[in-house]
Amino acid sequence: PFEVLVVGGGPAGSAAAIYAARKGIRTGLVAERFGGQVLDTLAIENLISVPHTEGPRLAAALEAQVGEHGIDVVTAQRVEALIPAAEPGGLVGLRLAGGGALRARAVILAPGARWRTMGVPGEEAYRNKGVAFCPHCDGPLFKGKRVAVIGGGNSGVEAAIDLAGIVAHVTLIEFDDRLRADAVLQAKLASLANVTVIVSAQTSEVLGDGARVTGLAYRDRRDGAARTLALDGVFVQIGLVPNTEWLKGVVALSPRGEIEIDPRGQTSLSGVFAAGDATNVPYKQIVVAMGEGAKASLAAFDYLIRVPAT
Ligand code: FAD
Repeated sequence: PFEVLVVGGGPAGSAAAIYAARKGIRTGLVAERFGGQVLDTLAIENLISVPHTEGPRLAAALEAQVGEHGIDVVTAQRVEALIPAAEPGGLVGLRLAGGGALRARAVILAPGARWRTMGVPGEEAYRNKGVAFCPHCDGPLFKGKRVAVIGGGNSGVEAAIDLAGIVAHVTLIEFDDRLRADAVLQAKLASLANVTVIVSAQTSEVLGDGARVTGLAYRDRRDGAARTLALDGVFVQIGLVPNTEWLKGVVALSPRGEIEIDPRGQTSLSGVFAAGDATNVPYKQIVVAMGEGAKASLAAFDYLIRVPAT
């Protein structure tokens, strides 16, 4: 068995595995897709000390650094179940969808998350070509341009407020007949001169010229009319879904499905830690995920030196 076994090969899982391996303990990492969400990212300009990189380049750098530390890396394998230790300090099991099983004294869960998408034509085709999901990441790329934000919940309204300070104009599109964000956010939004809010609007297509986004088509749900907006970018803010379906009923999850952790990355299960976008830690960013991965790994090491092996 492993001393530490990490699930996930994104920024959080990579950091966790490197920190564990550097303690000289037997470390493994299982990931469906090494690199995680970073692989789907184009420009990254907010990873502190790396002024500019691209997703695939950062993913390759993570993989290379993990490769320098004698970590047993298993990729293209999905973990489908976590089996808690039979007794305190016992081995935690992981069942792989491919049929295998792995065991470790401590497990660090870093399965990340995925953005909920609208599922309309053009959304996938123009991803990273005007369709964006993260205002902190991609907002500055739309300086002086016209963008829409899809979604009138807290994250959509926060994104619209954030973007209004950078871009020329923001149109916030909400499906329902009113915004669902907190009143204080809605008041702030209403005070901004360069924001328009459209409610009862069902986005039907992201429009483009083959290279970039040029607009958005939507159906007005009040009169059924089809309308379009000319735009340079569309920020989709309809939810971030943690990849934790397989953990339901085994570790404590928040109502949004995020793994609940304490400040040291400890989950509700002894010997099981978690880090990154899959957890209830606020602000889902690469630099945050890396720090959280390091923290969970140090906490796992503290656990291992205190709990005798059974
Ligand atoms: P992830 O990166 O999601 O990695 C999860 C890992 O777990 C993957 O290896 C996955 O294959 C694996 N996995 C999941 N489930 C299982 C399972 N059951 N079994 C085995 N393996 C599993 N952040 C920034 O800081 N700056 C940016 O510019 C930026 N741009 C972004 C642009 C886009 C388009 C997206 C989608 C995100 C962006 N982010 C950005 C956010 C950033 O990518 C995430 O915060 C970060 O990747 C989270 O790291 P993580 O390790 O927690 O999870």
